Amino acid sequence: MLSVGDIFKIGIGPSSSHTVGPMRIAGRFLSEAESAGVLTGGARVKADLHGSLALTGVGHGTDKAVILGLMGFLPETTDPDDAEAAFARVKAEKRLALGGGTEITFDPAKDIDLRGDIIPTIHPNEMRLTLYDDNGAALYSQIYYSVGGGFIASEKQLAIPTEDDLIARPRHGAYFFASARDLLALCREKNLNIHDVIFENEDAHRPRAETEKLLDEIWFAMRDCIERGLKTEGILPGGLDVARRAPSLYKKLVAAPLANEREQLFDWLNVYAMAVNEENAAGGRVVTAPTNGAAGIIPSVLRHYCVDENGANLPHIRIFLATAAGIGMLYKQRASISGAEMGCQGEVGVACSMAAGGLAAVWGGTPGQVEHAAEIGMEHNLGLTCDPVGGLVQIPCIERNAIGAVKAVNAARLALHGANDHKVSLDQVIETMRQTGLDMSRKYKETSEGGLAVNVVEC
Ligand code: SF4
Repeated sequence: MLSVGDIFKIGIGPSSSHTVGPMRIAGRFLSEAESAGVLTGGARVKADLHGSLALTGVGHGTDKAVILGLMGFLPETTDPDDAEAAFARVKAEKRLALGGGTEITFDPAKDIDLRGDIIPTIHPNEMRLTLYDDNGAALYSQIYYSVGGGFIASEKQLAIPTEDDLIARPRHGAYFFASARDLLALCREKNLNIHDVIFENEDAHRPRAETEKLLDEIWFAMRDCIERGLKTEGILPGGLDVARRAPSLYKKLVAAPLANEREQLFDWLNVYAMAVNEENAAGGRVVTAPTNGAAGIIPSVLRHYCVDENGANLPHIRIFLATAAGIGMLYKQRASISGAEMGCQGEVGVACSMAAGGLAAVWGGTPGQVEHAAEIGMEHNLGLTCDPVGGLVQIPCIERNAIGAVKAVNAARLALHGANDHKVSLDQVIETMRQTGLDMSRKYKETSEGGLAVNVVEC
């Protein structure tokens, strides 16, 4: 059962599927090995990365994430500086403390095998972890998948048919919906907004005050990420020599607030989105929204429309996030939010759709207008490919978030001016995205084997 806390997760950059997911997989592997009673006998661990995890794994920090996960680091509590220091130590000493306990030999060059030539059939982000004893005998071995947005699954879990894994299975009075059509019918029947339905479903997980606290913490993490990104100058890591642009643009905007009055909306949305994605590219602390690669769109729109000179409007922020999470759940359950499966339409497209719906809700839109805004937000991202240059989450990702934030606001405006008789439904556009993603060549799905990744020469 998906919750707002599943859609918005605090973690570290640069990728939810290639950093956060693998770190969680390594942690899960250790606890499973412990439950099986074999962890203490382990003397060596090997990680085999297949498909997209191997092809863009180094640029996306997957090797670092696996090592940190094996050392017991958790994405939600990891300090980026501590993580960098621990990673550097393992590379230099070729040893790691398994689960923070027993030290074992670990040579990243030998014990992490990147096999981009192996194309997994179940999901493109496949990883096998194997624990060996002193004599080289395998004690425990499992295959896992990082399925986008920091979600992970075992082979067995991915075999469960989607219809058996529907959103918000009814329990403790929570509402059941498996499509936007169901959600709108619920809103009509109960006279509720989309965010009311989501809040009532969250009530099945925890008291309302705790859900509000959770949403506030998500917002605070987004806000802090923007602030760090606006102040931190320099060159992003990874070898492309991409300079951070948010700090200089921010300085210009603050120094001359009325210099570019008509176009200022773009500048502010751009600077907030780029601040987040530059932090993400640097391995900083970000919130999946719904992924790390697309983490800048929702914070940017929230920062511009739900914060004024009196500070943050927390009631509006909660409505925005609850609505956006409800829309994100539909994409996660009916299609995918993984760039390796759907291309960038499944990351930036979904974030744009979620932000458009969230903003329409804050602006007082009816459930039908919110659904329409979310539909427009995706309709004009259909077919968007994932072709990151150098396998890094920088080009086109950083600017793409800026463009996505502007597009989300426009989608909300169009929906609010609409006559509620739109021809394309959110369910139809989600299904179109899914089919387009399946038809898309593997070259354009987070492999860096096509598009900008092969046409932009690395310096
Ligand atoms: S191009 Fe899009 S999907 Fe691909 S890494 Fe960048 S943000 Fe993620």
